[in-house]
Amino acid sequence: MNSGAVAPSLQEIASCVAGYDPKSLPVAQAREFIARLVPRVQAVEMVALRAGLGRVLAKGIVASSNVPGEDNSAMDGYALRGAELQADRERAFTVAGAGFAGQHFSGTVASGECVRIMTGAVMPEGLDTVVPQELVTLVDGVVHVPAGVVRGGDNRRLAGEDLARGGTVLAAGRVLGPADLGLLASLGHAEVPVFRRLRVAFFSTGNELRSVGEPLPPGAVYDSNRYTLWAMLQRLGVDTLDLGVVGDDPVALEAAFRTAAAEADAVITSGGVSVGEADHTKAVMASLGDVLFWRIAMRPGRPMAIGRIESHGRSAVLFGLPGNPVAVMVTFYALVRDALLAMSGATTAPLPMLRAASAEAIRKRPGRTEYQRGIVARAADGEWQVRITGSQGSGILRSMSEANGLVVLGHEQGDVGVGELVDVMPFAGIA
Ligand code: AMP
Ligand code: MG
Repeated sequence: MNSGAVAPSLQEIASCVAGYDPKSLPVAQAREFIARLVPRVQAVEMVALRAGLGRVLAKGIVASSNVPGEDNSAMDGYALRGAELQADRERAFTVAGAGFAGQHFSGTVASGECVRIMTGAVMPEGLDTVVPQELVTLVDGVVHVPAGVVRGGDNRRLAGEDLARGGTVLAAGRVLGPADLGLLASLGHAEVPVFRRLRVAFFSTGNELRSVGEPLPPGAVYDSNRYTLWAMLQRLGVDTLDLGVVGDDPVALEAAFRTAAAEADAVITSGGVSVGEADHTKAVMASLGDVLFWRIAMRPGRPMAIGRIESHGRSAVLFGLPGNPVAVMVTFYALVRDALLAMSGATTAPLPMLRAASAEAIRKRPGRTEYQRGIVARAADGEWQVRITGSQGSGILRSMSEANGLVVLGHEQGDVGVGELVDVMPFAGIA
């Protein structure tokens, strides 16, 4: 990504992060570093309203009109002047006409008269109250309103009570959801300005890896990370560029990184960043840009490369994730997801967490953040309870598939006792 402004060096960023220690970096510090590293897309495009779903709003939207545009009825009933009602006795009103949604009553209404009105019909001039039809008796064109059933102003929706003209409806940075499309439609917007989609390239590294569809020689494993990564990126609404499996070959690695730098805003790799790694991945990463190799105080997912990869004057943010399939997913959710959203221009709130009672004791060492795979459900007492999915090895991808959330045990946290409340980051939610 080329934002024009001179980006700070990784060393400058590190010096701004209190407690920065690349050999044992707390998750909070890693997140802060990454937040300072990543640039935001600038380009804006207009898209049809429906195409805006899941996209990031590039400009704040101000209401150009009131919604609703006029005072209107919230009920099917009879519109009248509230001041003509009396608290202690029944009143009778002669029906002067009728108003419907889309076809309002435009006559004048004298004292002692009312207008038959349907939900959504504009309130006739001078009338401020609607008596629901089920509360009245109608005899020969005269409506009898019992004492005390409504007060002046009841059952009327005021102009601008949903959106007031001149008010901010949606702020820039908003990821547009179903309600937002509806709001924009209620203002008459057929198109919406959004940031261009972020482009994210990804590939897997390792000589042992084969792609699905290929034969699997002894000792080889199928590359699953490109599928979980693609799926997680898909959910974020970014454009993806799958560069395949790249073996332990400096020429092929360099070509892949150069393509990523030229074509994408960010590149995500998996594998090859472990401390004892004997392959060429780390050397090629370091030769193509400004890259740091971290040991993060988290489990799973300790090693990670972070920085910028450059080629022909273009650059991409590098997220070099560990190879283990669970570590890939956990580091993505813990460190990459929010960074990609920020790069996309989104100003999102932190993911909501549940507090759930642990169904079992969990061993936890203070000084690192642990992400255990959990299944959260309502217990008999109606409270959320979480149990850990079997083995938590970072190669056991099934633990992620079985889970419906991550139990997040914070940096300082020690052992967890049965029934103790823990944070759970749920995988699913309506949006
Ligand atoms: P690495 O970080 O390269 O040392 O890889 C750690 C472990 O994850 C090794 O057992 C690798 O075989 C495995 N692994 C690495 N990349 C992938 C992948 N794309 N799909 C499945 N397993 C992988
Ligand atoms: Mg490897």
